[in-house]
Amino acid sequence: MHIPCPLCGPRDLREFTYKGHDTYLYRPAPDAPPDAWNAYLHLRDNPAGATRDLWYHGAGCGAWLIVDRDTVTHQISGAALTRGLRNAD
Ligand SMILES: [Zn+2]
Repeated sequence: MHIPCPLCGPRDLREFTYKGHDTYLYRPAPDAPPDAWNAYLHLRDNPAGATRDLWYHGAGCGAWLIVDRDTVTHQISGAALTRGLRNAD
């Protein structure tokens, strides 16, 4: 399986580290209510189908990516840099 790093091109999956659902990019404000923090830290969907995940290209350029993939087919349909997204810099 290959991940299309926007900076390096298609690279082997073993060069990347999975870091979780892209929900981690959308951290609540420090003064957000406990329910918002509980949802951020503990509640995740487990979709059978399209999902967006964070991956770190540690053996390559060191970029953080959002990867669109299908949890059923394992097909990767795209990847983008997280830079510029909310709470991602
Ligand atoms: Zn890269």
